[in-house]
Amino acid sequence: MRNSNSLGQEAINKKGFFLANRFLILRRLSQITILTLFLLGPLLGIWIIQGNLSSSLLLDVIPFTDPFVLTQSMMAGHIPISDAFVGFAIVVLFYLVIGGRVFCSWVCPVNLITDAASWCRRALKLRKEIIISRQLRYWILAMVMILPLFTGVMSWEMINPVSALHRGLFFGMGLGWILFFIIFAFDLLAVEHGWCGHLCPVGVFYSLINRFSLIKIDAKNRAKCTDCMDCFEVCPEPQILKGPVYGHNKNIATLVNDMHCTNCGRCVDVCAEDVFVITTLFNANKKPH
Ligand code: SF4
Ligand code: SF4
Repeated sequence: MRNSNSLGQEAINKKGFFLANRFLILRRLSQITILTLFLLGPLLGIWIIQGNLSSSLLLDVIPFTDPFVLTQSMMAGHIPISDAFVGFAIVVLFYLVIGGRVFCSWVCPVNLITDAASWCRRALKLRKEIIISRQLRYWILAMVMILPLFTGVMSWEMINPVSALHRGLFFGMGLGWILFFIIFAFDLLAVEHGWCGHLCPVGVFYSLINRFSLIKIDAKNRAKCTDCMDCFEVCPEPQILKGPVYGHNKNIATLVNDMHCTNCGRCVDVCAEDVFVITTLFNANKKPH
């Protein structure tokens, strides 16, 4: 394992700082731009987009509906208006093309907190963690969906940190800070990538869309791998890389075709050997070599 100082350093030396961090920089730009667009209306009266991540209207015309929130709402017995269904279809189609968990790495503001915790964890060389199954998130998702069926209340939305962070930016954080502090502390001290990779039902919901998405990562040049482990260090779901990077003896394809890949592009950034490429499902190198 590398320490925080040398992680990705070889890639920076070989490719230069920008190329070795391009997807990280673009992701931050994407997250900040989305937040800014939502804030422009309430703060400056420039209404490019109205609403929040759960439900919004672009240029007064195009509706977006969070499929996770809409599904909970229907489970609670609410009948959505037709615009909500149109918004649902637009969002699902978008993520079907670019990858469902792109929401996690390119849109979700909580990712800023979990990435910060991850960075601090590496910088402080914290290695100990408690063992929690990554399957736990499926049970949480099931609970989030079933509870409204019996209670008629979207109980998850009362504590959903994604919605809370967005609401907090408009109306003040209030007790929301405590929630974000708990998530940060949990990822820093208890479990690496703990929130996104083990608990968050939003991420696992979007990963169901990911299964059919078009844009994929391919460890196409795995023959060039030098076993530096940098990609495993930065990947929020490192278990998904094992087969594509090291599967040549077991006839495992190079395509990272796992529903939990967030298409964050960090593996592409930090690999000094350019093992990874971004491709489409059709062009992917599915044949093992
Ligand atoms: S693919 Fe190999 S060389 Fe590239 S970052 Fe991962 S372990 Fe290192
Ligand atoms: S495999 Fe690469 S793109 Fe997918 S989550 Fe891991 S680091 Fe991000």
